[in-house]
Amino acid sequence: MIVRTRFAPSPTGYLHIGGVRTALFCWLFARRNGGQFVLRIDDTDQQRNVEAALKPILEGLRWLGIDWDEGPEVGGKFEPYYQSQRADRHRAAAARLVAAGQAYRDYAKTEEVQAEREAAEKAKQQFVYSRRWMAETPEDCARFESEGRQAVVRLKMPREGKLVIPDLIRGDVEFDWAREQDHVVQRADGSCLYHLASVVDDHDMEISHVIRAEEHLSNTPRQIFIAQGLGYELPQYAHLPFVAEPGSKVKLSKRKLDKYLKNKDFAQLVQHGQKIAEAVGLTVDMDTFNPVIVDFYEQVGYLPGAIVNYLALLGWSLDDKTEHFGIPQLVEAFSLERVNKAPASFDPKKLMAFQERHMLEVPAEEKVGLVLPYLEKAGLVPRGDETATIKVRRIVEAAGDRIKVAGDILDYADFFKPDNELSYDEKAFEKRIRKAEDAADLLKKLREVLAGAEAFDAASLDRLVHGFVEAEGINIGQIIHAIRVAATGKAVGFGMFDTLAILGKESCLARIDRALAMV
Ligand code: GLU
Repeated sequence: MIVRTRFAPSPTGYLHIGGVRTALFCWLFARRNGGQFVLRIDDTDQQRNVEAALKPILEGLRWLGIDWDEGPEVGGKFEPYYQSQRADRHRAAAARLVAAGQAYRDYAKTEEVQAEREAAEKAKQQFVYSRRWMAETPEDCARFESEGRQAVVRLKMPREGKLVIPDLIRGDVEFDWAREQDHVVQRADGSCLYHLASVVDDHDMEISHVIRAEEHLSNTPRQIFIAQGLGYELPQYAHLPFVAEPGSKVKLSKRKLDKYLKNKDFAQLVQHGQKIAEAVGLTVDMDTFNPVIVDFYEQVGYLPGAIVNYLALLGWSLDDKTEHFGIPQLVEAFSLERVNKAPASFDPKKLMAFQERHMLEVPAEEKVGLVLPYLEKAGLVPRGDETATIKVRRIVEAAGDRIKVAGDILDYADFFKPDNELSYDEKAFEKRIRKAEDAADLLKKLREVLAGAEAFDAASLDRLVHGFVEAEGINIGQIIHAIRVAATGKAVGFGMFDTLAILGKESCLARIDRALAMV
């Protein structure tokens, strides 16, 4: 059997982190088994502009490296991949179900069914539709129609017995048919509902494994009923656990940010992202700039490989120790047997740990390419400026693991500002220069030493400053903090000698002069 999986998003305008985890598992399973991964767009209930609402989803998947063998933009032998364009097939299937007696034309008015439902509720009984307006013959249809009624098509679901669904993650899941309803599959206007459409499309597209979120488990009985009614061979099912809220088992939602912000780690993730986004002039609208949405991570400068690694482990594990995976290793190791049943809660701290780990593996050259757009967007570096690239490379190397996401380069914005525009952290300036004993005098003297320096690389500066410290009979701490604040405006940063060397002599002197003038 050829393994064929599909991810079937509705065009919602964004890619939810839980949705992309589903896509990832479908993709990994297909890749692992040498199969195909299909992207199908479930747009039957779509009012707005499908293309626009789909764009962020396609971009997000591509960014993460989740490529599809068939679907929008790439085509494939089962075109079209938009559910809305397959309506004829869905209608024909509805007609076949009716002809086979597995579904019926129902002429009840909405309020009549509603009245039955309410009566059942009142009697504290489960609602079972009376099928009073079910048409069984053409004469029935004619009679109901003469009353001005219109028909929907309902499934004629079994009312007793059990259905056992073999689920590749959950094992056998049992359902009582009696708990099911005669679900509507076609509206009075002839359009078909998602459940029917989905079953028909899965069959037409030869999907072998339906891997999807657990909230669809309750839809599976009616879908199996439809598939059997149409004489289809059933696909295998695998229902994935939710991606849950931080620290809970409730499904993660993009609309509950206020609640999540009470979680310290989540709040930190958001603030970190916001700081970067604001610096590059993005509108930080929480409807779109939201860690529940994949786009957030792309904007802030996470590595797609880190996100994929983290998401893979949200619900799946190889064993109880291996956590670090590149995409090829994931493809090799993935199996549905090792997917958990329990929801996996989204842990921002853990995500950052993965990001840090993956970032360590990015060669400096490549990191420069990742961070440069942030400096350009923030207006700190002109596009294509060669000298700036050299400087960026030196900063990236000196900063090492301090650059956790690409946008963190903006912590070093001061390196790119004109010397007379450097802003000083007031507190640091007070403590390290204005109020520190002899700091200003020492700074003045060191300025002269630096002015006379012939070599301005980190090693030479190290020797020079230590020589100065010795000659003055002071300890290094007495000058090093003052010079840092004078040169960078801040109390913290990477190695001091690297900092001075990257700034260069001219800038260092200008900045020290400016600080001294402020004392
Ligand atoms: N369009 C459905 C969703 O977005 C797909 C459900 C399925 O995979 O069958 O949840």
